Amino acid sequence: MMRDDCGDVPSRETALARLGEGVLDLLVVGGGIVGAGVARDAAMRGLKTGLIEQYDFAYGTSSRSSHLLHGGLRYLAQGHLRLVHEASKEKRVVHRIAPHLAEPLAFIFPTRPGWQWARWKLSIGVKLYDLLCGRRNLGRSSTLGRDRVWRTLPGLARQGITGAVRYFDGLTNDARLVIDTLRSAASHGATVVNEARFVDAQREDGLWWCEVRDTAGDMPLEVRARAVVNATGPWSDRLPHSRTDLRLTKGVHLVIDRGRLPLPDAVVMAEGSRILFGIPWGDRVILGTTDTDFAGRIEDVRCEEEDVRYVLDVVNGAFPEARLAADDLVSAWAGLRPLVADRNGNPSDISRRHEIRMGEPGWWDVTGGKLTTYRLMAEQTVDKVVRQAGFAARRCRTAVEPLLPPEEVDGTSGILPPPVSEATVRHYCRREWARHLEDVMVRRTLWRYYHANHDRVARRILPWMADALGWNEAKAETEWNAYLQQHCPSHSGANEWHARNVPSTL
Ligand SMILES: Cc1cc2nc3c(=O)[nH]c(=O)nc-3n(C[C@H](O)[C@H](O)[C@H](O)COP(=O)(O)OP(=O)(O)OC[C@H]3O[C@@H](n4cnc5c(N)ncnc54)[C@H](O)[C@@H]3O)c2cc1C
Repeated sequence: MMRDDCGDVPSRETALARLGEGVLDLLVVGGGIVGAGVARDAAMRGLKTGLIEQYDFAYGTSSRSSHLLHGGLRYLAQGHLRLVHEASKEKRVVHRIAPHLAEPLAFIFPTRPGWQWARWKLSIGVKLYDLLCGRRNLGRSSTLGRDRVWRTLPGLARQGITGAVRYFDGLTNDARLVIDTLRSAASHGATVVNEARFVDAQREDGLWWCEVRDTAGDMPLEVRARAVVNATGPWSDRLPHSRTDLRLTKGVHLVIDRGRLPLPDAVVMAEGSRILFGIPWGDRVILGTTDTDFAGRIEDVRCEEEDVRYVLDVVNGAFPEARLAADDLVSAWAGLRPLVADRNGNPSDISRRHEIRMGEPGWWDVTGGKLTTYRLMAEQTVDKVVRQAGFAARRCRTAVEPLLPPEEVDGTSGILPPPVSEATVRHYCRREWARHLEDVMVRRTLWRYYHANHDRVARRILPWMADALGWNEAKAETEWNAYLQQHCPSHSGANEWHARNVPSTL
């Protein structure tokens, strides 16, 4: 049963006031998965912790991933054994601490002669992949003969298929993992605030005096902290004091109806040295992704027509009878990988390793990594912060303590979007910091990406949000118009691809 009437989060005013009083042990800048993980870990160890996010939690890359918990089979081919081992262990950790957000997902990887992914190599590779999970992968890999591949994937182009391997990773819900991690952080005493932007900071008398802008109230706020963690993902080299150097690459995903590509398992489609996935997602299939250098304004990242063409060409090459076209899209999204800079070579070959660096005393930059490894990144970061500052802190328990108590896993949180209901919407407003129509549609529920008629869903929930948040008619109208402008091109007349894919900065 969902609880709707208790455990409301403190009001934003209360949270802002808390941030401004006294001295924090740690201020985390950035409310994506890395910042959320650091805040949870620090709060659980007893540090007085605050987190600020400039837009909505999970606004950045952490709501635009492939939704996979994975070791990264392709990184094995690149020889990054340690990276795969770390990520493989972490995918099991997430499965243990948040089973509601980690479902075993089988992948079929068909093989053809002449590909760099020969069947014999892959057969060895997937066995090694299982071993790197400490022999306890989310399922056991196997090798499939040609007939079995054709029976399982009847629409697959048959020419040259030599067989396939079948291996396991996990399916998750990226934005939900962020929100639930923040709920956990808050339940351990962290103060978390959205629409609060880090502007600048000075170090004096062993403290960081941080200038923060409450962008909702358009008010300045001063926050003092003994240590600061810059966990701003793609923005992290733009913060004052940051010493990071990033290379941003864009990846897009398309969502189609599962009836158009009835996949029983996820499927891997090789394209040159790259691989793309078709991932079953309830009644839909997620197709992706791309990997191209990006140099524009981060907030403007979008899925362009050429991205759509590229992904559909690869999928139509693998499943010619599907004849997928742009009209088949239910939705699409685009995100940026905050990769540790390596200016040379192909974007797909850049390592997904992470880096934790202290640029100045008490100032930490955390960059790179993956959704899958967020907890380990957080643990290593907090270890360093604690050691450098000399905090008396408890040991890290994030790998063993459940993300949410069982009674909190109540239908509002999961891998697939929940049914649309007034009670769930109230819950997101009162207990999960949702402040705008888009927050609920895009990041609390994924209704925006799952439902072709998401505008009708948004219209339906508008009065419920207005009631929960005390909006008057004018405010409700403003929210509705903002949503239409960003997400419903036919209403607003805005550029279709832009509108489909760029959540507003509000
Ligand atoms: C296309 C694509 C597919 C991916 N697929 C997978 C996958 O399947 N599995 C996987 O493990 N990983 C995947 N990744 C990688 C993973 O999504 C990222 O590594 C991860 O989400 C990065 O999280 P983050 O917290 O570092 O950054 P973000 O999620 O971007 O969070 C940073 C936050 O900081 C905020 N911020 C910025 N500046 C300020 C400021 N001045 N003040 C306050 N807040 C600020 C931003 O608004 C943002 O919300 C994928 C990435 C991409 C792009």
